[in-house]
Amino acid sequence: MTQTALVLVSYGGQGMVELDNGERLDCKYRRSVGRPYCGDRVEIQRADGQSAVVTRILTRDNVFVRADARQRKQPIAANLDQALIIIAPHPAPSRDLVERYLVAIHSLGIRPVIVLNKAELMQEKEYDNNTPLGRMEDYRQLGYEVLHTSCKTAPGISSLATVLENRTSILVGQSGVGKSSLVNSLLPDLELQTGALSRATGKGIHTTTTTIMYTMPAGGRLIDSPGVWEYGLWQMEPGELANGFIEFERFLGRCKFNDCRHDHEPQCAVREAAESGAIFPWRYQAYLRLLSQCT
Ligand code: GDP
Ligand code: ZN
Repeated sequence: MTQTALVLVSYGGQGMVELDNGERLDCKYRRSVGRPYCGDRVEIQRADGQSAVVTRILTRDNVFVRADARQRKQPIAANLDQALIIIAPHPAPSRDLVERYLVAIHSLGIRPVIVLNKAELMQEKEYDNNTPLGRMEDYRQLGYEVLHTSCKTAPGISSLATVLENRTSILVGQSGVGKSSLVNSLLPDLELQTGALSRATGKGIHTTTTTIMYTMPAGGRLIDSPGVWEYGLWQMEPGELANGFIEFERFLGRCKFNDCRHDHEPQCAVREAAESGAIFPWRYQAYLRLLSQCT
């Protein structure tokens, strides 16, 4: 009998799946079917009481990728609803970090959310709106969901828990911004969940290298992938870049040249919008800096 299931963890030639009724089975893969990713929906056939074989990988809504050391894309998880960009006053984000992340998340077809963690450490000067930390209101105006969180004191993480409810999410951000602390605060039974996944697959899971899907207490899934995007992203194409600046969209068809890079071309609708203030000039400047780094 064939059943559908969700892949919670996948490494080497095996993994663990959860059936629609919540039952968990360890599973093996067939070479002809291929290796599913964490988050994949699959069809399985039971082998015996505790184990199964994956017979088909269902069509993916999206695939979340990381860049390896040579900037090649490596898939790590599938079927996400949102990716949370975590920034903090310390370590402070570099000038274009949030834009880079936003472009990458849009190009993967996933909803970005911006989270300012360690919010209790924010000082007056950091609200200066010439720094990424001071631009939260601008991001909100662009249409992004923006949250302030803290693992230590007010405002806490309850707003974050609400955003994660009944969705599949991943946290991204540079080392030290508090991703592990957030995951620990959100999942009181984190060690129990890791332990259960390790036992079922017969080997210890290395939480320092393996991508794992955790279940949130109030429903929803949180994907934890160590070091994701801490070491940079893949190289972007100019078109991919412009599509990642969501407010450019309504101007994109209106430039004089079809292949406009929105740089110094005459009659560029995007540049004119930045000049008139219809696009935030600081966003346009960030676009130009990222464009100069494109291939
Ligand atoms: P990660 O590298 O992104 O996983 O960051 P960690 O979760 O390891 O956190 C890095 C450091 O920041 C640790 O010393 C945490 O205790 C601290 N930290 C995390 N969240 C907060 C917060 O909301 N406020 C403050 N003040 N420190 C925090
Ligand atoms: Zn243009």
